[in-house]
Formats: sequence, C-alpha cells, structure tokens
Amino acid sequence: MTATIVFWLLFIAFIGAFAAQVATRVRLIAAAPNTFNVNDAGFRIGRWLTDVLFQRKTIVERPVAGFMHALVFWGFLAFAGYTSIEFLYGLGIVDLTEARWFHAYRLFIAPFATGVLIGILYLLIRRAFVRPVGLGDHVSIESIVIALFIATLMVTYLLAFRLDEHSAAGRANWWIHMLVILAFMALIPASKHFHLVLSPVTVFLKSPELGNLPNLDFEKEQVGLETLKDLGSKSVLDAFTCVECGRCQVNCPAWGAGKELNPKAIILQTQDALLEGNRERKLGEIYSEKVLWQCTTCGACENQCPVGIEHLPILIGSRRGLVSNGDAPEYLGAMYNNLERRSNIWGLGYDQRTKFVTSAGLETFDPAKHDVLVWLGCAGSFDADFQKSLKSMFSILMRKGVKFGVLSKERCTGDPAKRTGNEYMYQELANGNIEDFKAAGVKKIVTSCPHCVKTIGADYAKFGYQVEIVHSSVFVNELLADTRSAKASAERDAVTYHDPCYLGRYAGTVDEPRELLTRFGADIKEPERNRDNPYCCGAGGGLLFADKEEEPGSRISDVRFKQLQATGANTVVTACPFCSIMLKGAQASAGADTQFVDLMTFVDGKLKSL
Ligand code: SF4
Ligand code: SF4
Repeated sequence: MTATIVFWLLFIAFIGAFAAQVATRVRLIAAAPNTFNVNDAGFRIGRWLTDVLFQRKTIVERPVAGFMHALVFWGFLAFAGYTSIEFLYGLGIVDLTEARWFHAYRLFIAPFATGVLIGILYLLIRRAFVRPVGLGDHVSIESIVIALFIATLMVTYLLAFRLDEHSAAGRANWWIHMLVILAFMALIPASKHFHLVLSPVTVFLKSPELGNLPNLDFEKEQVGLETLKDLGSKSVLDAFTCVECGRCQVNCPAWGAGKELNPKAIILQTQDALLEGNRERKLGEIYSEKVLWQCTTCGACENQCPVGIEHLPILIGSRRGLVSNGDAPEYLGAMYNNLERRSNIWGLGYDQRTKFVTSAGLETFDPAKHDVLVWLGCAGSFDADFQKSLKSMFSILMRKGVKFGVLSKERCTGDPAKRTGNEYMYQELANGNIEDFKAAGVKKIVTSCPHCVKTIGADYAKFGYQVEIVHSSVFVNELLADTRSAKASAERDAVTYHDPCYLGRYAGTVDEPRELLTRFGADIKEPERNRDNPYCCGAGGGLLFADKEEEPGSRISDVRFKQLQATGANTVVTACPFCSIMLKGAQASAGADTQFVDLMTFVDGKLKSL
C-alpha cells in the first residue's frame, strides 16, 4: 500500500513536470495563426506510414544510423503496451501482469529490447565519439543521459526475466525501470527527444508540396512574417519537433559553400526565441537579415528533414516581411524594377522576344490548331544561349509532328518575385499570365524552365487555376520513346548530368533526362549529390542577381562545378537555363575547358546524325 502511495506521488510529480512543459508549447502553438492543413489526406497517410512507421527517410539518408534509429523507434512502439500495464499495476488501478496473454506479450517484445539496446548503443557511440558534423560542435549531455536511460530501461526489462519479482532485487529492478520512465517523461519536452511525441503529427501536417508558400491575402492586410507572433502554427510546431540531426544543415548548399545560413540553426533559434516568451520580437533580429538572403530555395532542407519540418515558410515568410518594409537587398531592387517596367527579370524590350519568335518561325498559340503551348520564360525570351536550346526543342517537336504555338506576349511567371518575398509583384504577374492562359484557351504547356514548371503548375493552382505543365525532358522523352541511337557501348559519350533543384527535387523528374541521354548514346557519370537531392547551382531564390564578389564563403556554383568536374566527364548536360548560366560562370572562373550542353541540344544533335 505504501509503495502504491509513493508511486502515485512520484507519478504526479513527474507527469506534472511533463504536462507543464507540454502546456507551454501547446499554448504557443495555439496562439499562432492557424496554418494547419490536412488536404490530400490519402497522400499524407501514405507518407506517414512510410516515413514514420517504416522510417524511410531516416534509413534512406543514413542507412546504418537510420536503421539503428528505426530499431529504437520500433522498440518504443512494441513497449507502449508493456509500459502502460506496468503503470496500471504500480498505481494500483488494475493488475494485468499475471494474465497469460501478458506473459506471451512480454516474451514477444524481448527481441525488440535487444534491438533497442543495439540501436541505442550504436547511436550513443556515434553521438559521443564519432561526432558527425551535422550534430554540432559539442556533445549534448542531455542526449547522453537519454541514451543511458533507454539502455537502462532495456536492461531492467531483460533482467526481470532472471529475477524473482518478489525478491528485493526483483523489486529494486522494477522500481529502477519505472523511475527511469518517469524521469524520461519529465526530461523529454525540453529536449530534442520531444520529437518522439510530435514528429508523427508534424510529418502528417507537412505540406504534400515541397516549398509550399501560400499566397498572402492583401485584403486581410497580410504582409509576411515580421515578428514571432506572425509565425504560423505549423512553423511553431516545427520549432519544437526538431531532433537536431543536422540533415538539413549538411544538405544545404549555402552552408556547404561556407555561408552563414544554416537551416538547422534557423529552426533552433525559432525554438529558443519562442520559449523566451517575447512574441513581439522581430524575426530579422533572431535570424540576422543577411542569412535570410542566402537561401537559394533549393528545398534540400525540408526535403531531407526526417520529422516533417518546413524551413521555406519561415525563410521566405521573413523575406516577405522585410520586402514589405522596403528592406530587400539592392540587387533585388534592380530586378523588381525590371519586372515592374518590362515584366521580365532583365528589363529587356519585348521587341527582342518578338525577333526570336519570328526568326524561329513560331506561330501564335491557337487551341484549334495547336496541341500544346510552348512557354519560353524570361530566359527563353531573352537569353541567346538558351534560345539555341529552345530551337533544338522546336526542331524535335517539328520532326515528330507536334503542333505547338507560343503566346504573342509573356510576362515572367513571378518566380523570382515570389521566392524573394515580393508577393505583391508575384501576384500581379501571376494573375496577368493566368488571364492570358485562360483567354488563349491553353490546356497543356511545355517549357524548358523548371522554375516555370513549379510556378505555373503548383503556385498558380493557389489562385484556383490549374493547367497541365510538363518540362521538355518529360515531353520529349515520351515523344521519342521508340527512337534511339545505335552506338556500341564502347563508343558512348561520357557526360555528367546536373539535376536542377526545381526539376529533380521539386518535380521529381530524374529518370526522363537520364533515359533520353542513355538512349541517345551517353554514358552518364553520376556526380555526388544527384537525382532528387542535387547540389544547387546557386541561382534560385533571386541569387542569380546577387553580387558574387560580396558573398561570404565560396560560390555555390563553384562548389557544384567542382563536383561535376570530379566525375571525369568533360561534358556537362543541363536542363535549366539558370543552372547553365551559373555553371558556365563557374567554369569561366576555373578556366576549365568543360563543355556545357543543354539536354534538348544533345538529343537534337543525335537525332540529326541518325
Ligand atoms: S532551401 Fe536550400 S539553400 Fe535554402 S536553407 Fe534550405 S537547403 Fe539551404
Ligand atoms: S530541421 Fe529537421 S533535418 Fe534539420 S536538424 Fe532539425 S530535424 Fe534534422
């Protein structure tokens, strides 16, 4: 009886400490503007099963450490019922420990205990001695204590098989087991282990769309994020879910190139600031404005995060707040001016686009005559190099009898305005284009710009406008499915392919460019960081216009160019006009003789030589 009372008192004390800390966090989440969304429930459930239950993301990114983590996680699930029954017993509510099914259950979870022990010891050694860079500079004492707690739980559980539960040793073993659970409960809300509780919710609530940036509603006077109290409920939940694994950090191209931006630090700074309690604090003070402008919006951070955290709503939301106060960097002022005056990022006269359209013999789109609209984009309208690539695409389409046309006039999709936080300008450009698409009766669009695919395909849908848009690599791959060059493998061209972030990561288009290259005689030498986790070229998020001489650290494009060079291939195939501009710049700085070929030019050249 005395033991039960003591257990009740301890239970109330520890669970009270747990509840008080949880309540602080729940209050902060509840006070934030609601940004929770459960649209596309089928996709969310599927992702929850693979990423939470089967730990896909954790295992794929770091197979050994991920599997060890999965062993611990699966052990927690297996032990949930056991722990609950021991608590019911300890609190004197009901004793189910003598039931036959409980004995069977106890035996069933024994292999899980062994798995948890192996997993936690591996993770403990990795954290305390191996020290991967993403885990930070200092050994976290709290993590070591938690790991030792988990190991103690498993050892005491296994010892219970050998000890008489009524002996002094058996009773002591039971008390140690239960006290460790209570201490663990009191410790986790203030530690990164709170992800055990929050991450299943955070993963479910993560947007199905990578880099999801809902439109600002100007009628509701929304201007972006200025202070902590503007952060949406999902961002606040994210801040408390971070497990500090550093995956976002080590995959961030800005951090990789030695800049100050560290997406993990952004999340942890948000958490610290929220817990300090001053919700009026300006975000520009918490993160440093300089850091906010170093993000290329490549999406690697949120794509790699195993617990469903979305960094871009914070980064771009903060940029929106700065832009609305007139605090954008100077180079963006010039770009905004170009967009405002001439509706394109370079501020060039539309006569230049008209000249290109005329010289390429393009027709104005007419739904009665044409199957698809070809969207040129700013680069296709004005960049002479990229226009050569487009001519290659036109040549392929004509050869296969595709009837296509272009709009008589285009505006920029608004991508650079949106990703740099100039939402007002983005919405003006987007609405103008949507009206033009509707007026022209457009049903399907093909473009060679991956940024335009994302903006027209996903961002315009937020205005209720939906149109099918595909990248030229997908369209042409389908078109040429039965065509191939007959090169013997010994004669194949060694090339490397740079996946653009907005194609490989955002659109998941990784196979089609490779299928085209392989079918047309290429031997692909894969670079490090490829497919759906490429290393950025450094152009996204408005950084195409940044003054590269003033950037801290290395240039992102230089780092990527070296990775591509390391493949040994002297030809780099690209499929995005901005990657091409950035990487050619890096090549010129390096004085290298690497050739750059756009995917469409590569394919067209091979077709012509068949
Ligand atoms: S989007 Fe890319 S550049 Fe920006 S913080 Fe994330 S990983 Fe870094
Ligand atoms: S934000 Fe996600 S990926 Fe980055 S450290 Fe936290 S849990 Fe890891």
